[in-house]
Formats: sequence, C-alpha cells, structure tokens
Amino acid sequence: MTEDRIVASLINVKKIYNTGDTSIVALDSTSLDIRNRQLTLIMGPSGSGKTTLLSLIGCVIYPTEGKIIIQGDDITNYSEKKLANIRLNNISFIFQHFNLINPLNTLENVMQPLLLRGEDAASAKLKSISALQKVSMEDRQKNLPKKLSGGQKQRVAIARALVANTEIILCDEPTASLDAKSANVVMKELKSLAQNGKAIVVVTHDLRLRPFADRIVYVEEGIVSDHLKNEDDYK
Ligand code: ADP
Ligand code: MG
Repeated sequence: MTEDRIVASLINVKKIYNTGDTSIVALDSTSLDIRNRQLTLIMGPSGSGKTTLLSLIGCVIYPTEGKIIIQGDDITNYSEKKLANIRLNNISFIFQHFNLINPLNTLENVMQPLLLRGEDAASAKLKSISALQKVSMEDRQKNLPKKLSGGQKQRVAIARALVANTEIILCDEPTASLDAKSANVVMKELKSLAQNGKAIVVVTHDLRLRPFADRIVYVEEGIVSDHLKNEDDYK
C-alpha cells in the first residue's frame, strides 16, 4: 500500500504574464498541497487561471514568485533540462485533445514514454499491452488515432499515463471533447487510479464532474480557494 503523502506543493506562488506593455496576474499568490490517493478537481470559469495553476504543478512554466516542491524536491530554480526530466519521469499529462501522435498506432502511442526513457521495446510493449487491457482497449492496439472515438482516444491517453507509472497525473479538461457517457468512463478510470494511490488533478469547468472529486479547488480571477468535500456530497 502506498502511504498518504503530499506529492506537490505550491508555496506563495504567483504567475504574471508580461505581454508588451501589459501584465496579467494569471495566478495570485497561492499555496496549495496536492496529495496522492486523491482526485483533486480544479474548477473555475474560462480565463480564471486553471491551466496556469496546472502548468505550474506540472513544471511546464516557471512561477514569477514563490516556490514549487515536487515529491520533496524544490524545483523552483531547476534548469529547463532538469524540468523536462521531471516531466518525463514524475508527471503524466492528459489533455482535452488527447495529444496522441497521429502516425503512431494505439500500442506505439502508449509505449512512447517508456521508449523516451530508454526502456527496451520488448518490455515497453508488454507493459503497454497490460495498460491497454486495464482501460479495455487491448483489441485496438493496431488502430491509428483517427480510427478511434474521442472516448477511446482518451482511454489510450490514460493507458499512456499508466505505463509511465508516475505518481502525479495532471488532466486539463479531459472530458471536454467527450459525450456524457465517455466522460463518465474516463472519470471512473481516473477515480480508480486515485483510489489505487495516484495523485490525480483534473482541471475542468464542468460542474458534472464534482461527484468524482475528493477535493475541489476553486479558481476565480487568479484567486484560489480550497474545499474538502463533505461525505454528504457523495450521496
Ligand atoms: P483557464 O485555464 O482557467 O481558462 P488560463 O490559466 O489559461 O485560464 O489563463 C489565465 C489568464 O492568463 C487569462 O487571462 C489568460 O489570457 C492569461 N494567459 C494565459 N497564458 C498566457 C500566456 N502564455 N501569455 C499571456 N497571457 C496568458
Ligand atoms: Mg485552461
């Protein structure tokens, strides 16, 4: 059993974008802990700073102020190259538009993170087939992304995160391009990953995803407020 712990922290983190002569405070000073075994939902209207928050947790952008700790390491002053390594080895991303590689089939897409890490193809293939079984996509191994529905593509993206086997999985509007039924399947899979020990962070403006959350973080005009869910909310 994985013990409960904090896997990522933002400490007084602020993000300002400077474009020409204007500057936008995309995220006001924010402190936030992300825990494993939890599905954290980050909610707020369009333009409120959700993607900025997720990109900071995901080591994609640097904060303007404050500190970011990932799995115990202060990564705030890491070089671009060291951050790329953290993203490869410690964090998986799931996006609204799936970000599968179009000329690669399902199996090859899922194998990618392992091949990038230098794992040999035979063992990457075995692990990928097993991940595809977990999301009921093993019979689609040879299909190119264009032959898959939105829901199927997102399950392939989940399998890719599964083989990467990172403790942190960050999802930006993962259900926004899906019909209600596929959205439900995807959210159930993400929820079960959290129950098995992963830290799942889901950014969304879709209120229907609330029942899946262990915790909901609201963002409004760059200001973050945090709510632990009541047991009652599940009923
Ligand atoms: P959300 O994901 O909630 O829609 P974002 O985090 O994408 O919000 O954006 C928050 C604010 O920061 C918005 O006003 C947006 O226009 C601005 N913003 C986001 N990314 C950039 C960028 N790279 N350069 C300049 N402004 C940006
Ligand atoms: Mg966004």
